[in-house]
Amino acid sequence: MRLPALRAVLPAPLAAAPAAARLAARLAARLAARAAALTAALVSPTIAPLGAQAAGAPAAAAPARVTAIRADRLIVGDGTQLLDPVVLVQGERITAVGTAAQVAVPRGAAVIDLRGHTLLPGFIDAHTHLTSIDNDGGDLAALRETPAHGAIYATVNAERTLRAGFTTVREAGSLGYVDVAVRDAITRGLIPGPRIHASGPALGTTGGHADVNGWSPFLQLPGTGAIVDGADAFRRQVRLNVKYGADQIKIVATGGVLSVGDAIGAPQMTAEELAAAVSEAARLGRRVMAHAHAGDGLLAAVRAGVASIEHGSLVSDEAIAEMKQRGTYLVPTLIILEEIVRDGAAKGVPPYAVAKATAIAAERRVRLRAAFQAGVPFALGTDATSDIHGRNGEEFRYMVEILGATPMEAITIGTRNGARLLGVDRDLGTVATGKLADLVAVPGNPLEDITRLQRPAFVMKGGAVFVGPGGR
Ligand SMILES: [Zn+2]
Repeated sequence: MRLPALRAVLPAPLAAAPAAARLAARLAARLAARAAALTAALVSPTIAPLGAQAAGAPAAAAPARVTAIRADRLIVGDGTQLLDPVVLVQGERITAVGTAAQVAVPRGAAVIDLRGHTLLPGFIDAHTHLTSIDNDGGDLAALRETPAHGAIYATVNAERTLRAGFTTVREAGSLGYVDVAVRDAITRGLIPGPRIHASGPALGTTGGHADVNGWSPFLQLPGTGAIVDGADAFRRQVRLNVKYGADQIKIVATGGVLSVGDAIGAPQMTAEELAAAVSEAARLGRRVMAHAHAGDGLLAAVRAGVASIEHGSLVSDEAIAEMKQRGTYLVPTLIILEEIVRDGAAKGVPPYAVAKATAIAAERRVRLRAAFQAGVPFALGTDATSDIHGRNGEEFRYMVEILGATPMEAITIGTRNGARLLGVDRDLGTVATGKLADLVAVPGNPLEDITRLQRPAFVMKGGAVFVGPGGR
């Protein structure tokens, strides 16, 4: 079952080579067996194989054994809920979903009893920076560190993120293709972490948000992304990113909060550059996520056909209408700016960045709420850097407070909507028969207290338990 996933992350020529495919198959089989054995070892001490016990037989730990999960409530991810649910899992997939009266637990099934809890689909964070751990937005990291540092940070952050119930993330730009490497290591079962949709380096223009600015022109400095100028350069960089394993393309369409010397709404790509990036990505079957805070640069990115606007802090009425009509997602990254305003100075965020964030904070709340209430589709994204890794679930609370979303709407934004934006809704985003068994349980009822989502008591990814009964 793991072979298709592994093949999917291999560069196309390698995946096509029969010898490489055989090697990948052997590796995948070995790792799948190891993961199944690990899960069985973790689960067996605390959950009883009911049928086997009744028959007086020892617990069998076959990989294809059915696991039955019970809870007080299932929030499906599509805005509906089910009381007294039973979810059956076999291998990495869900094989049945219904009430306890509807779904018979097969004889010999392992039972995970989560009564007192609410079961939900694995959460999806559509904007993370797993490779980042410092607070300055990357400029100093780009001067002092190498992508190897990012790989080590990402290994730590990936596990924190998974343990917070986020079983899928979309990485929003990573120098040195570290996100690709970490994704592949997780897919192969070498380290625990969420399913990663990698971008490779973000594409930005000279002097823009992805560049390192304010230093002497006599220094040769790297960007925090790929610095490209002109339509042809964008086309070539999109091709390079896809060649080296990107699942989507991240572009920087306007200025940013954490960058030096640019206004947040300033357009940073020409219409030709936007069109080249989007059309080349589309030709290669990739979607584009656009960093854009405000103004004409945001609107131009929407009109160029990007899949999502990241941040969207001061989105205009004109852009709201255009996004609604086109179905362009808004990923509002609420937590990061709220925290920069609240305690960024104490955490070492540079004063210019705290000032930029503070200047837009109040109006940002108004504009993002307007976009949500107007019907623009939203997906959850935290912009997780520094200490936000592992606290991704706090974004749900901000969606209720700032956007005016109901708790149920916030959950749909953080599950089904994310899956749709990432193009994986056939396999993820809701709890349904045939989908991958990415499941989270939280104590009590998050519809009454949204902060319950911040502390999952149970996390399963692809049928393997990482937190909770039987977990570590
Ligand atoms: Zn970001």
